[in-house]
Amino acid sequence: MKFGGTSVADAAAFENVARIVANERAAVPIVIVSAMSGVTDSLLAATDIASLENVFDRHRAVAHELLDTSRAADFVENELRNAAIQLDALLQSIIQKPAEHKLLQDAVVSFGEILSSTLLAEVLKQKGIQARQIDARSCIITDDEFASAAPLMEETFAQSQSELIPVLESGVTPVLGGFIGSTKQGVTTTLGRGGSDYTAALIGAALSVSEIQIWTDVTGVLTADPRIVPEAQTVERLSFGEAAELAYFGAKVLHPKTIQPAIENSIPVRICNSRAPHELGTLVGPETETSPRTVKAIAHKTGVTTVQITSARMLGAYGFLRALFEVFDRHRTVVDVVTTSEVSVSLSLDDASALPAIVAELEELGTVRVEKGRAIICVVGEGLRGTPGIAARVFSTISDINVTLISQGASSINFTFAIEEERVKEAVTRLHEEFFATKKGT
Ligand code: ASP
Ligand code: MG
Repeated sequence: MKFGGTSVADAAAFENVARIVANERAAVPIVIVSAMSGVTDSLLAATDIASLENVFDRHRAVAHELLDTSRAADFVENELRNAAIQLDALLQSIIQKPAEHKLLQDAVVSFGEILSSTLLAEVLKQKGIQARQIDARSCIITDDEFASAAPLMEETFAQSQSELIPVLESGVTPVLGGFIGSTKQGVTTTLGRGGSDYTAALIGAALSVSEIQIWTDVTGVLTADPRIVPEAQTVERLSFGEAAELAYFGAKVLHPKTIQPAIENSIPVRICNSRAPHELGTLVGPETETSPRTVKAIAHKTGVTTVQITSARMLGAYGFLRALFEVFDRHRTVVDVVTTSEVSVSLSLDDASALPAIVAELEELGTVRVEKGRAIICVVGEGLRGTPGIAARVFSTISDINVTLISQGASSINFTFAIEEERVKEAVTRLHEEFFATKKGT
């Protein structure tokens, strides 16, 4: 059970987590927790210990509110005080040793998860749940790519098993901070932003759990963005492939990279809402079952720029696409959707900040056309692969809206296209109506 930062934002949130964990006790859970919301950002921005006063205050407040006097005093006087002493020293050495910046920075941010996991274990004990904080750094063993360390699977699996199995066997619930790890030599590392999901997937895979639960503040993945389609519903089941396609769009609930260990070990991942714990959320799993409605979700993204490069030189030539993509590579610009014809390539970008320089270089390859203010709409569903007529339905539903850059992914489970941003609301609403509302009861 992984709880994100908003699930441990304050005392009420901690208490809620304790209730949710208590309800699952029969299933023998392992708890993974992120730093309290905003703490990772504060630690990354900290220049001295004084700038962290608010971080300490928030932990102290939770301790005083939820723990009895001696437990709270113990947490504040030992855990918080030690953290402050170590952070003070670390922040000073960051200034003195700029060459070790990344290494020291990881040690600094690790305190977010060290403190939240220690505090959560205390809160669970206070509520009568046998729990113990386990230092995630003795389970997640990584390389030394600080700030985005990659786990060493063999070591991580072995360590996680030897650290956690005895705890579980003694009937105690282990509580680990997400996101943090250590090198084989014991130097603290972090897995990159949002890394707590990754920790959950790694621990889940190492212990062959029956389900990995990602507890967040939304009810799973929805059939469309609820700000545009208020009647959007929770998608009950998604395949790993469908979830990966949706991750790029607002449905940022699961990053495909972070659940890779779950995918490889066929462990289902459930996205649960800590504000509505009785709702089932969305179960993401290995099954590629097709929904009776075929389409599972309609996602979209605005603020997209599309670029079209046309060149007769491309016909029958090799190396053209390489030259083209090298331009984006040089400017470290992420390309999302790509479609090509014999003599043209169209693609979409989220971040167009390097565009003037990119266009100047692309013009050496062919004629370039840039369109700003576009939106990408993505229709996702395993059933798209073999169901005729979906594209016809999509396009006839929005037949008065100009569509560009049409792409059906290689996996054939998504159908993606660009339109003008101003019409996205209308298009998504109409598509949702076509594929969901009108189908009710069939
Ligand atoms: N606390 C880390 C972050 O904010 C990791 C996580 O929450 O998943 O990125
Ligand atoms: Mg997070």
